[in-house]
Amino acid sequence: MKIDFANLDLAYKEHQNSFDEAIAEVINTSSFIMGSQVSLLEDKLARFTGVEHAITCSNGTDALLLAMMALGIKPGDEVITTPFTFIATAETIAFLGAKPIFVDIDESTYNIDAAKLEEKITARTKAIISVSLYGQIADMDALELVASKFSIPIIEDGAQSFGATYRGKKSGNVSLIGTTSFFPAKPLGCFGDGGAVFTNDNELAEKMSSMRVHGQSKRYHHKYIGMGGRLDTIQAAILNVKIGHYENDIRRRQDVAKHYTEMLKGNSNLILPFIANESTSVWAQYSIRVKKRDLVQSKLKEVGIPTAVHYPKPMHLQECFSYLNHRIGDFPISEMVSNEIMSLPMNPYITQKEQQYISNELIKITSK
Ligand SMILES: *Cc1c(COP(=O)(O)O)cnc(C)c1O
Repeated sequence: MKIDFANLDLAYKEHQNSFDEAIAEVINTSSFIMGSQVSLLEDKLARFTGVEHAITCSNGTDALLLAMMALGIKPGDEVITTPFTFIATAETIAFLGAKPIFVDIDESTYNIDAAKLEEKITARTKAIISVSLYGQIADMDALELVASKFSIPIIEDGAQSFGATYRGKKSGNVSLIGTTSFFPAKPLGCFGDGGAVFTNDNELAEKMSSMRVHGQSKRYHHKYIGMGGRLDTIQAAILNVKIGHYENDIRRRQDVAKHYTEMLKGNSNLILPFIANESTSVWAQYSIRVKKRDLVQSKLKEVGIPTAVHYPKPMHLQECFSYLNHRIGDFPISEMVSNEIMSLPMNPYITQKEQQYISNELIKITSK
């Protein structure tokens, strides 16, 4: 059996006519930049998440930049985040000249550990970025309890969690600013790059919306230092189709995850994903932990099963952050998890038969 990790072709084919029509409309009207589909999408995103303002942008990395630029993050500031994330979370902090300060993760959810937050807060701490890893939001109430004591704003990097909930609230609506990504492999993906920021704060919304278009207040009048960070109209048109089916996609991802867990549970060689009470995940990844991960991965590959590692090297050990002078042992949970973590094929289109095959092979390989 040959299994596809993301089945992006099936995602297109399932609604091919709607996608083709939506794309053709943008081309036929030449409304390539900030066409009506962009504001339509922003209305839909705001309604979906329950936030006041949803502002689309070029990708999930620029979304993080916009959030921090609107908060005025500048050289000399410190921004706290997790070392167990995709590079964009930490890279954007450094890009703005601020210093990334890491706090280790919780061993069960792999999200930033609120219990270790306070000891890292200094007079220079200007923001905290929590990452909703693999599609599950961090313990925001516990983070907020610490952050509010020092009046430090929280940004949720929701690149992997659009549609997830925490205590009844949707990702994007659980902190002062939320961000997301529409990169094709994310749970809600477009056919290229895309992203968005979310906030209930009118002033921050005005800033981020202006900064996305070169900080302009009106054409050729620039109030802020901004960026060229718009979302293409074609991508907005694609997302307008996709978001209509997204609740159904989430349900299917959750069914796939449930099925994996049923088939793999009770196996002492595997640590399965943990979803906290009062949280739902959109399963950007179904990531398990195994010993001898690299060997297991290559054996699975031999039998046609693709896997991925999110992520093999934590931020504090990346070459680009060597100037922070971290060493092995600084964030032991992140280091342990990065050596053991492995993501199984996860998408709404994977069949039970494929899942059965993956689970059987995985159990066979790991029990040897
Ligand atoms: C994908 C991702 C990003 C960046 O999104 P892009 O759209 O690829 O720029 C940021 N943070 C996390 C946690 C991600 O997974």
